[in-house]
Amino acid sequence: METAIELKGITKTYSGEDQAAVCNVSLKVKRGSIVTLLGPSGCGKTTTLRLIAGFERPESGELYVGGKLMAGDKTWVSAEKRKIGMVFQDYALFPHLNVEENIGFGYKGKDKKQRVKEVLEMVNLHGFEHKGVHHLSGGQQQRVALARALAKRPEVILLDEPFSNLDTNLKQTMRNEVKRILKKANATGVLVSHDQKDALAISDEIIVMKDGIIQQKGSPKKIYQFPKNAFVAGFVGESNMMKGTVLPGKRWIDTDIGKIPCNQYHILSEGEKVLLSLRPNGFGIAADGEIEGVVESFSYVGEYLEVRVAVVNRLKETISLLVYLHPNEIIQQGDPLRLRVSANFVSVVKN
Ligand code: ATP
Repeated sequence: METAIELKGITKTYSGEDQAAVCNVSLKVKRGSIVTLLGPSGCGKTTTLRLIAGFERPESGELYVGGKLMAGDKTWVSAEKRKIGMVFQDYALFPHLNVEENIGFGYKGKDKKQRVKEVLEMVNLHGFEHKGVHHLSGGQQQRVALARALAKRPEVILLDEPFSNLDTNLKQTMRNEVKRILKKANATGVLVSHDQKDALAISDEIIVMKDGIIQQKGSPKKIYQFPKNAFVAGFVGESNMMKGTVLPGKRWIDTDIGKIPCNQYHILSEGEKVLLSLRPNGFGIAADGEIEGVVESFSYVGEYLEVRVAVVNRLKETISLLVYLHPNEIIQQGDPLRLRVSANFVSVVKN
């Protein structure tokens, strides 16, 4: 598949700062895909987006959009010439212009009227042409911002924290809508988000960043199921981390709380010391479960029971496991429990 964006060893240090905001970042975004840069505040995701947009200039590395060099040792293409559409966090709509005028703003083609109509239909705002943007809901304003970005048929649409201003219900709708609209327009989208749920729901690929460095790239399923290190395991979903040793046959890992099953035998060697990530939703109550513990605390959150289980390990230390149980389970604080963990929710991570 064709590459829409490529970064090769891009580094950016802001003046007066010791540490690079983005450090030797290399990545490729396939044409037509939706990619999310995900990470905690300060990890460099916005800087990466601003570098792609042309709002920041890297000190080293090369950046390509649509196969053309935009930034390199001797090359610099300014933001206006990059064929990039931008949807800002606050949408940045012009309050004195109506919907149609906002969308058509800056559109130079002779087919302006037709194109505005097309993108209005794409974002399901047909009939809103003459409304003032201040009369629109948050979700509708986001549709206008997206339509404006799409109108010029850019190579790439960049979206900065697109869902952070929306309440939970609208967020869910707009995640699906933004995905539908980008796919319908055959557009390439790069999003910035600190919210793992947004990233998992909308992306074809997630790029997890920390301290300006890419930690892991991959499909949402791969990132969730097989986090590469303890940071990714903890940031993308909840996780219980545990050290262990691979047992003969490589199907079980010996840990201080008992034997844990693992499906990744193809990457393991007998006797190898590993770090495991155990997802809370991998546990279930079982009379002959390998893990013995006591209910420390629990809360009902609708879809599941969020339970803290105190487990005394072989070293006689008490550790606390985070476990999600079926919401119909009846448990009390202090109840003894036996738990089983499914190998599908266990993965080997690096330190
Ligand atoms: P957030 O989610 O809070 O926006 P982020 O992951 O997008 O964070 P960046 O905004 O890219 O991170 O910031 C990366 C690092 O660069 C941070 O340490 C930040 O303080 C620093 N930084 C960002 N913008 C500037 C600037 N204009 N001048 C100096 N330092 C900056």
